[in-house]
Amino acid sequence: MRLEDATVSFGTRAALNSVDMAVAEHEIVCVLGPSGSGKSTLLRVVAGLQPLDTGRVLLAGHDQGGVPAHKRGIGLMFQDHQLFPQRDVGGNVAFGLRMHGMRRAEREARVRELLRLVGLPGAERRAVATLSGGEQQRVALARALAPRPRLLMLDEPLGQLDRSLRDRLVVELRDLFEELGTTVLAVTHDQGEAFALADRVVVMREGHVAQSGTPLEVWRRPVDEFVARFLGFDN
Ligand code: ATP
Ligand code: MG
Repeated sequence: MRLEDATVSFGTRAALNSVDMAVAEHEIVCVLGPSGSGKSTLLRVVAGLQPLDTGRVLLAGHDQGGVPAHKRGIGLMFQDHQLFPQRDVGGNVAFGLRMHGMRRAEREARVRELLRLVGLPGAERRAVATLSGGEQQRVALARALAPRPRLLMLDEPLGQLDRSLRDRLVVELRDLFEELGTTVLAVTHDQGEAFALADRVVVMREGHVAQSGTPLEVWRRPVDEFVARFLGFDN
């Protein structure tokens, strides 16, 4: 995924200000930054849910201008994961597959495999309402992964979970993405999560990229006072 000179303004304010960013194949990138710095807008632009004022989005080298969201091959998972409460777990995971016209037997095999991968083997017929918050997030993840997206984008995927569950899931997610070879762009408020999950972190400030580097690079050598403060160093 490549974003070139991406600008999005709401009124007089630029939510994204000439952003250049690339995510390599199989790379896991976490976007960090204060509230309002443009993280969700960035994901929405790449997904095709938010038009650009200037600039362009490329996926596998192809300009996505004019390509609608559902044709971009992107898996999306938002903080309020919005499972369909009237469908069981299997129905939720299979949702995108049915849209792709996959046959029933193949769908069922794919769902079984995904539920195993997210640590919920055999949960197909369970009602969504009987799942814990963490289990629901895993189902939402399986749903996002089901069509084998070339890019998976997560906006605060573990946002509502408690610390110990987050820490456990982050490790599982990292293994899962490695196993599937998924390219991931994830937004988080949580530095610990970003540093545990990411090959590279991108710190945003007021609609632009303040710093990009491996977790260790950014942690050891913040480029400026803003990044240092954001990471919690006070001098
Ligand atoms: P948070 O961490 O709170 O989720 P964020 O980094 O995801 O913040 P964005 O949601 O990308 O921030 O918003 C960036 C800026 O753009 C904010 O100032 C926000 O108020 C503004 N903004 C985003 N979407 C819209 C919209 N649809 N209409 C007007 N302003 C918007
Ligand atoms: Mg946001």
